[in-house]
Parts: sequence; C-alpha cells; structure tokens
Amino acid sequence: MYLNQPVLLSPGPTPIPDIVNHYLTLPMIGHRTESFQKILHDVSKGLAPIFGTDQPVVILAGSGTSALETAMVNTVDKDDHIVVIVSGAFGNRFKKIAEAYHYHLHVFEIEWGKALDMTAFMSFYNQLTQPIKAVFTQLCETSTTVIHPIEQIGHYIKSIDDNVLFVVDGVSIIGAYDMDMSRDKVDILVAGSQKALMLPAGMGFVAYTAESRKKIASSKSDKFYFNLSLYIDKLFDDTTPFTPPIGLIQSIRGMLEIVESEGFENTVKRHYACRDGLRSALKALDIPLFVDDKDASPTVTAIVPIQTEINIIKSRLLSDFNITIAGGQAHLKGKILRIGHMGYVTPFDMLKVISALEIILSDIRGKSYLGKGLTAFQEVISCIK
Ligand SMILES: *Cc1c(COP(=O)(O)O)cnc(C)c1O
Repeated sequence: MYLNQPVLLSPGPTPIPDIVNHYLTLPMIGHRTESFQKILHDVSKGLAPIFGTDQPVVILAGSGTSALETAMVNTVDKDDHIVVIVSGAFGNRFKKIAEAYHYHLHVFEIEWGKALDMTAFMSFYNQLTQPIKAVFTQLCETSTTVIHPIEQIGHYIKSIDDNVLFVVDGVSIIGAYDMDMSRDKVDILVAGSQKALMLPAGMGFVAYTAESRKKIASSKSDKFYFNLSLYIDKLFDDTTPFTPPIGLIQSIRGMLEIVESEGFENTVKRHYACRDGLRSALKALDIPLFVDDKDASPTVTAIVPIQTEINIIKSRLLSDFNITIAGGQAHLKGKILRIGHMGYVTPFDMLKVISALEIILSDIRGKSYLGKGLTAFQEVISCIK
C-alpha cells in the first residue's frame, strides 16, 4: 500500500499538536525554581475555565485512574456509604476502587449504552436507608459513548442532602464540554491528559470548587501520595509536594495556547460538529449507531456493524488507510466499534474515516456507497456557523 499519514481516532490516547510536543521537549528545569513555579501557576490557572471552576487545577503524575482514586480516597472514609453509578467499563473502575478500599458500596446499574434515567435513579436513591457520603459517576462513559445528565443528578442529590459530595469522572470529555462545576453542583471533577485535552499520557487532573476545598480538607481517611489537600495547599504556593512531571506540565502551555487562539467556546463547538457530521454520515452509510442522538457524547461515537462486517471494518481501516479506531470493552468487545473525535481532531479529519468507510462498505456489501456519507456530512457541517 502507498503511504498514508497515520490518523489516530481512538478515544485516548489522541493526537498531540506540534506546539505541545515543542513544549514537552524544552530543556529540563528544576521544579523548585521560580521559572517552574510560574509555569505551574499559569497552567493550573489556565486549566480552571476548561474544568468550569475558578480554582487552580491539581496536576498529578499518573494516568486518569490515579485521579479517580485520588477523588475517592479524599472524600470517603472506611465506614462511609457511597453510591457509584455504573454504566460501563469506567463506572466499573470506580466500583473496583471502592471495593479495594472496602467502602460500603451502593451501585446504581444502567444498561450499557443508555444514559441515566432520572426517575429510575431517584427511586433507587430514595430507598437507600444509610446516609450517603458521596456519589460517583462518569460524565462521558467512554466504553459506551453516552453522556449522563450530571446537572440533574447534582441538583437532585444536593436537594436531598447538601453535604453529599458529587464526584464526576470527566476523563474523556473535559476539554470538549461546556463545564460549570457550580452550575452542576459538582464537588470534584477529574480528567486525564491523553483524551480530549490533546496532551501526552501521564497526567491526572483534579478540579474542585472553593466550597469543596473545605470539605476535602476535612477528609480524615488514610492516604499519603494522593493526599489532595496537600496538593491543593502547595498549589496555592505555586508548588507541588513531590517532584511533578515537569516536561508534561510544560506541555500544557501548548494546549492552552491552542485553546486560547481557537476560543474555548469554539473548541467545544468543534467537538459537537465532529459528532453531528459523523453521526449523519454513518446513518447514510447504513451503519447502526449504538446510542440515541440525545445521549451521544461529543467526543466518541460507537457503531454496531453487523457481525460479519465488524472486524473487516476495523482491520481494513488500519491496513488500507492507516486509520486507527477502537473496539468495544468488556462484553461489548467484538460487538461495537468506537470512533474517537476528541482533542486535536477537527471535523475535516472525519472526512478521512467517512470516505474510507464508503470504500470498504462498497466493497464488502457489493453496492456503492461512494459519496453518500460525505454528502450527509457536508450537509450538516455547511449549516454550522
Ligand atoms: C480513559 C478513562 C479513564 C482513565 O483511564 P487511564 O487509563 O487510567 O488514563 C477513566 N475514566 C474514563 C471515563 C476514561 O475514558
């Protein structure tokens, strides 16, 4: 096959802009220097509006899961009862962390591929007899590609008890979503670097509000490296308790420059344009979508091709066109495919995967799809201002 540029459309890791790579490779500097303190100050403040808070965002050396665990051990004590919303592989991750720490766990299960239904959740929550310390959920459940109504969840659980902590995993959507922690009554919001934030893998982020900072400070549970209050207190002195991932933190400057020049509102719009154009194209190609339009994440789209097409699509996208997409996780392995469109991905990058799909499908279905998906895509994109 002739040369094709690699196109990475996975729901993490995602492509890295040159400017981010540039900052990543700058000469190493000491972390107890004024220059590093200034960088840390700027990037932790620069991340705040992307997370929808006015507090500087804590940066951990670790993947997204380190931020999930940090959020949990800094809100929950051994004897506490907590609720974990499980709608896919990453809800299960929260559940497993809770099990590892032997918390009293109440799981609200949602069928994979569906968004949380408030009526069902309220009746589940109402019948809990123990006081609940914290509620954990994903905003985007990456394994199924739905987004959950966190604003409604936040308002509901706080209306029952204002002290309950609301912890949201936004790993695969922060950077692509109009987030506002106060509006949605979120106390802790976590993310990872390698998804919609167009950064290299290796950083976990933890955002909080001025209000929740006090609640975090009162946490008495056992912890050492992931003591969130310690990170927050140090961050207010523009420093970190331990050696931070210096190069990675410098690379955030590149991401912030891109977001600043694009305008964050446009960054968000770009993700929705990818989603809407892609979904319309997939429908035109007779490829069933896994989740309803109203629940679909702006960052990743799942399709349910028939069994005989599923492996061919994924492997030929890679072998013939150098396009990487993802399969399903857990019991969805071999059942769905996921096309990531988060971070440094633009609507016109969707054209490549759509046109490659047209060629593959025309070949295996023995009928021409050429131009069908592209036309549907253009019809959507040309209407977006
Ligand atoms: C990717 C992801 C994580 C964290 O995964 P890591 O491999 O630890 O970075 C957590 N939650 C969601 C929703 C994710 O998409």
